[in-house]
Amino acid sequence: MTEPKITVYGTYSCPACRNSKMFLGEHQIPYRWVSIDDDAEAERFVMEKTGGRRTIPTIVFEDGSFLVQPSVAELAAQLGLKTEASRSHYDLIVIGGGPAGLTAALYTAREAIDTLVIERAAFGGQAAGTERVDNMPGFPDGVTGTELSQRLRRQAERFGVELLQVHEIAGISRRDDLHAVRTSSGGEYTARSLLIATGSHYRRLGAPGETDYLGAGVHFCATCDGPFYKGKHVAVIGGGNSAAEESLFLTKFADHVTILVRGKELRATHLIQEEVFNHPSIEVRFQAQVKAFLGSSSRLTHLKVLDARTGREENLEVDGVFVFIGLIPNTRFLEGRGVLLDPWGFVLTGHDLPEQGRNIVGYKLRPPYMLETSLPGVFAAGDVRKGSTKQVVSAAGEGAAAALAIRDYLKRR
Ligand code: NDP
Repeated sequence: MTEPKITVYGTYSCPACRNSKMFLGEHQIPYRWVSIDDDAEAERFVMEKTGGRRTIPTIVFEDGSFLVQPSVAELAAQLGLKTEASRSHYDLIVIGGGPAGLTAALYTAREAIDTLVIERAAFGGQAAGTERVDNMPGFPDGVTGTELSQRLRRQAERFGVELLQVHEIAGISRRDDLHAVRTSSGGEYTARSLLIATGSHYRRLGAPGETDYLGAGVHFCATCDGPFYKGKHVAVIGGGNSAAEESLFLTKFADHVTILVRGKELRATHLIQEEVFNHPSIEVRFQAQVKAFLGSSSRLTHLKVLDARTGREENLEVDGVFVFIGLIPNTRFLEGRGVLLDPWGFVLTGHDLPEQGRNIVGYKLRPPYMLETSLPGVFAAGDVRKGSTKQVVSAAGEGAAAALAIRDYLKRR
């Protein structure tokens, strides 16, 4: 592994440091973290840079330049991320730059449909944060999440897709005959059609202490934060495919991985379960419920774990914990906007719409396309959609299918 070219100086208890670390992590930008509470020389260095004031985070870049307490916009500009679109109107705006969104975009751009992709964080979606995708057709030896994302991005750019980063979507609405997308930084873009491909994110446990130790022992991305645990003991919470796969990945760094499963069995696929059970550094504990995240003022040190079989509680000593207990769709920005969601927030499309859309204005003269939402002209693909399989290859497949439907929709309008 090459040494990161960016160094973040801060303390574990500083919220602005946590935000900067999260921003770099979400953008898949490797960085070195130095806690100035634990390193007197680093503290002196920061004071020197900030006029004797110990202002953090202080972030030093490869060329020696540095930023002190930067805003997200300043950090994005320094890292050369594209944050301004060239125009305000497009044929299609794709919200979300994961495998579904980027595949759709490369299909539409190839058909000369003017396409803008707006992404909140790094391109590649959740797949980008996965160490290895082993079941992607055409990659017999597997492919790293980072490489897959870079390839998808390059391919989309080759066909002329415009890519915009660091924009959280605040909401969508109608502007006469068009759809408008508003970003939380105040920008507004219009398009003749939209594709929602915002995917999902890992659910939090909600136990006391979880938020207090975010980035200070509590993590949701093994690829981003696993390397901090060389030779250490980490716990993984969850019993699905994510928990099992990420535990295997964490054994590259950690000496010991304890998987805490609340139920009586793992839900991961058979093959992965076998690997987990046969791994000498992995211990699996069933009916183990994490009740609290405990630690010092700056770092997680223990988990309070209830053994549901015996009713006994223990304080399990860990250096870090990774939480993989399922997914929450990224659809907050759609609430109250006319796009129907299921009770968990996943987007309804095609056959899943009530009465298959027959009672929806706009679908009186034609049925919705398979991947069209309750708002005519607004499509959805990938993990954000109810009924999706949460697999990279099907997300890409849905992206392609949505692109072809969008092409047809735009032709008929
Ligand atoms: P899953 O929904 O598959 O599993 C969630 C796990 O977390 C379950 O073991 C569940 O336990 C547990 N859990 C849920 N809530 C809590 C809680 N409050 N406390 C403790 N444990 C809890 O989620 P994943 O993130 O693993 O996977 C999401 C989707 O992505 C799945 O469809 C999966 O198959 C797919 N995936 C596929 C991969 C691949 O094909 N290579 C890799 C990774 C993910 P319980 O069983 O008790 O409900």
